[in-house]
Amino acid sequence: MPDQDGFPFGDTADFEAAGRGLVDTGDPVVRNKAGEIVWDNGSYSSFLTGDAPATAHPSLWRQSTLVAKQGLFEVTDGIYQVRGYDLSNMSIIEGDTGIIVIDPLISAETAAAALALYRKHRGERPVVAVIHTHSHVDHFGGVKGVVSQEDVDAGKVQIIAPEGFVEHAIAENVYAGTAMGRRAGYMYGAALSRGPQGGLGAGLGQTTSTGTITLIDPTVTITTTGQELTVDGVRIVFQMAPGTEAPAEMHFYFPDSRALCMAENATHTLHNLLTLRGALVRDPHVWAGYLTEAIELFAGQADVVFASHHWPTWGTENIVEFLSIQRDLYAYLHDQTLRMLNQGYTGPEIAELIELPPVLDAQWHTHGYYGSVSHNVKAIYQRYMGWYDGNPARLWQHPPQEKARRYVEAMGGTDAVVAQARRSFEAGDLRWAAEVLDHVMFTDPGHAEAKSLLADVFTQLGYGAENGTWRCEFLSAATELRTGNFGTPTATASIDIVAHLSPEMLFDALAIQVDGPKAWDLDLAIRWDLPDRGSSYRVTVHNGVLTYVKNSDKPAALTLTVPSAALISLAVGDLEAARSNGLSASGDQSQLASLFSVLQPGDPNFNIIEP
Ligand SMILES: [Zn+2]
Repeated sequence: MPDQDGFPFGDTADFEAAGRGLVDTGDPVVRNKAGEIVWDNGSYSSFLTGDAPATAHPSLWRQSTLVAKQGLFEVTDGIYQVRGYDLSNMSIIEGDTGIIVIDPLISAETAAAALALYRKHRGERPVVAVIHTHSHVDHFGGVKGVVSQEDVDAGKVQIIAPEGFVEHAIAENVYAGTAMGRRAGYMYGAALSRGPQGGLGAGLGQTTSTGTITLIDPTVTITTTGQELTVDGVRIVFQMAPGTEAPAEMHFYFPDSRALCMAENATHTLHNLLTLRGALVRDPHVWAGYLTEAIELFAGQADVVFASHHWPTWGTENIVEFLSIQRDLYAYLHDQTLRMLNQGYTGPEIAELIELPPVLDAQWHTHGYYGSVSHNVKAIYQRYMGWYDGNPARLWQHPPQEKARRYVEAMGGTDAVVAQARRSFEAGDLRWAAEVLDHVMFTDPGHAEAKSLLADVFTQLGYGAENGTWRCEFLSAATELRTGNFGTPTATASIDIVAHLSPEMLFDALAIQVDGPKAWDLDLAIRWDLPDRGSSYRVTVHNGVLTYVKNSDKPAALTLTVPSAALISLAVGDLEAARSNGLSASGDQSQLASLFSVLQPGDPNFNIIEP
């Protein structure tokens, strides 16, 4: 039961679990070939000890202390995890002749370091298979750190992934990638200095590594619950869980070791239904449903459950309880949000009103270190009802700058608003202080006192946040107010990701960049012959819209011959590189120049806390 300010600090079982089976803590620093640091867990673990300072929420401090534990851990006989080597965990299953790697982290460098730590203790066993539990980059980006494309092509290594894996892996990082990347800089706090007054971690893991992101196409696609594979003598039974934490995701059970892998659907936090960096909203109803199915299919036989974040849970009874409480958490948020929205409450109202049952709240793993009750409830409202709350006073509001100008004027001018914000700040009403100072920032972004006061407000909001990503958001905003825009620290659209674009996805990615008004009067028709793929596309720009038709025999003013390497260059907007990679053209050359002249790539430095 809760024992301190409503938090169950007396329950210390997680410390035992997070340290259980430790073989070797390994080296906290991972570097790339150039010698640059791409991962430094020591920058967290060095200060995350003892009681929480006044600048951190005690519950987040506790979680961060647990998550910062790093090293090689034995999960059960023949199953190991490397934790604290990236945002995610890498799990290793020992087979008859080699090993199966589950989820090779974000970067090739961290994945290679994690594998080396394992091999130091367990010998030079070859990797015979990689399993990707789902389509998020922290579960596949390091694949080329553990296996090579050549060995996969030669059939020495299987790459096993759920149906839809590649499509979703790419779509997430390319279509809205620039905006998500910029916002991820806030959410994961990559630009924050680390320490009791800065970044403590993101609740799910410490932060994201900054090495080389890679991708290899799966050789085995899992499509059906109950599907079984035997890989290197290891039996695996799969359960599909699409549309949960990721659009393509799966759980699986190892009957011979009585071990269950829950991908990222049951971890030691309330997860995100809508991540703060932005994404398509997730479905808590099917999420809860797949947890129920996993309990029914596997939990009663399992001795250990592990996931690709956080530490495992051992003991059949504990596993059933853990999964049941996680299930109840998502189901409760879903059902209660629907109940209340049918009473006429809107997202922000439900977020304030909803209370978790005390029995759920008394478990550490239901707390919102990564997702939060507040933003998840708004996400559920959004999923069912959209952005509009039905009140036409809010149907056609002025955008932030126009609204800000009018609010500031109505409240007596900039200085009066700042004075009022200071009174609210001193009285502890940080939410109101942030709201009115936001209006000042969008009216008069150069107002030094407003800027510095808002930075102080965000800092206090960050220090008080139990949620790791909320803390990062607030402290990142304070950092930008004090020292300027830090841009996008980690970009995920690597060459390896872009190289996996299908021609259709490439054309979609180009269409997204067409500056509509500039292209209103353009009328282009370009044939793209793709000799390496044996196909062609007729791409047109008309009415400011780029569309395409495969293998069309309609005429085109220009014909491009585009080898695969040139296609990749074009996808990243580099016409010169495309030419040196074999791009050739016949016909009206001005068509290509016109197309490129209306493309507007995303801006990774766009403003967030000022206009
Ligand atoms: Zn993850």
